Amino acid sequence: NLYKTSTMTDAHERSFIMVKPDGVQRGIVGEIIKRFEQRGFKLVALKMVTPTRVLLEQHYDEHQGKKFFEPLLQYIGSGPVVAMVWEGLNVVSVGRKMLGATDPAKSEPGTIRGDFAIVTGRNIAHGSDSDKSAKREIDLWFRADELAVWTNSAERWIYE
Ligand code: UDP
Repeated sequence: NLYKTSTMTDAHERSFIMVKPDGVQRGIVGEIIKRFEQRGFKLVALKMVTPTRVLLEQHYDEHQGKKFFEPLLQYIGSGPVVAMVWEGLNVVSVGRKMLGATDPAKSEPGTIRGDFAIVTGRNIAHGSDSDKSAKREIDLWFRADELAVWTNSAERWIYE
């Protein structure tokens, strides 16, 4: 395809984005999806689930032993979350910027946490922090057949 230039070949990076139970309860699921859609990222997978403790222990493995680990598992395990995979150029780093800092007090207005959250323990949404953790998290939360294969018809208007 003549239209496919360099930025497009890098456009297949993926990130695991999750609306946490507080985001679901507060009705911000659509708002979060809207921001990723509007930016031009491609939705590859989406499901609502109440995560098991085993899943969360793996997802938050790096935090085992920390004082916020138990409250964190109670919080995320308390209700349904909306788990998603978004795809696009630099989606991991751009997604983190869109989310804002882990502590909403340090998140800029205009970011998801900066617009909708106040404390770290109720910070609305999760986004992978590196390409490596994105791959690990997507594997953990989704089966391969849950990832949609499709072409966004706007792709050549999003990438040059
Ligand atoms: N967290 C918390 N207290 C803390 C640090 C983290 O409750 O002092 C929670 C918070 O929900 C955060 C999650 O643990 O989003 C994972 O922490 P991490 O440092 O990995 O931040 P993130 O990657 O989510 O921004």
